[in-house]
Amino acid sequence: MRYQAVLDRVHREIQPWIGGGEVAHYIPELARISPHKFGMAVVTIDGQAYAVGDAHERFSIQSISKLFACTLAFQLLGNELWQRVGREPSGTAFNSLIQLETERGKPRNPFINAGALVVTDVLARRFVRAETAVVEFIRRLIAVPDVDYDPRVALSEMAHAQRNRAIAHFIDSFGNMRMPPDLVVEAYCRQCAISMSCLELARAGLFLANGGVAPISGERILDPSSTKRLSALMLTCGTYDAAGDFVYRVGLPAKSGVGGGILAVLPGDMAVCVWSPGLDTNGNSHAGVQALELMTTYTGRSIF
Ligand code: GLU
Repeated sequence: MRYQAVLDRVHREIQPWIGGGEVAHYIPELARISPHKFGMAVVTIDGQAYAVGDAHERFSIQSISKLFACTLAFQLLGNELWQRVGREPSGTAFNSLIQLETERGKPRNPFINAGALVVTDVLARRFVRAETAVVEFIRRLIAVPDVDYDPRVALSEMAHAQRNRAIAHFIDSFGNMRMPPDLVVEAYCRQCAISMSCLELARAGLFLANGGVAPISGERILDPSSTKRLSALMLTCGTYDAAGDFVYRVGLPAKSGVGGGILAVLPGDMAVCVWSPGLDTNGNSHAGVQALELMTTYTGRSIF
């Protein structure tokens, strides 16, 4: 597949979309990023990398970190994880509290904030610092030792984390937290503040396209069946309350973040990451979704 030619075409055609949407304002450090950034990278399981635009520039991965945290928790607990967090799309906003009341503190899935906080609780129980476990896992996946979280973004998020604190304490009130909720929220905020580029994220996600083995280190991350399951969760729950529309347009399992990044995988072939900070009303990158739609249309390749 001639991915570079496709990326170049997408980069040309996406120009009118760049700058559209709104940069996330509720985390002040994110509001400072130029909405005119756009980068996109494809890495194939046989090691070829293709990139356009700002694909080498690091940005705040935000909710994309939920994918790596969930992988670690799934490694630790296996199917037991699903006793504490569900596997259904929520149909509500990523930071909503509504279902927690009626569903007695069991979040719908690990990719909404409530579910990610339970996942972080699992990691915080096992590791001295949950966020360090996530950072080190990513470093290992891509063999890049200086990947880290941005302390300014983490602090900015902690200063505005009232809603996440409310979610964590609410879950705790139902007995679904093992560690102190405030400690879990702080670890979660640091994990969301990890900075990576499109190229790094595409490399990090490649194990999902490769049956659970990270092609760079050769390390088995998940068995093939668990890899299938995690990718299925990305498909149904990975792009906020727009997962149906995203799959209709793009046809790939993906995880997005409010930093404007989207990481998607095509099993057996490649991982792709796109970044553009302007978000649509669901919180997905406005130009990013369109770029991925163009890419799968021009390559004719998706999971369908
Ligand atoms: N750190 C963000 C929050 O908890 C992550 C949101 C996201 O990227 O979806 O609000």
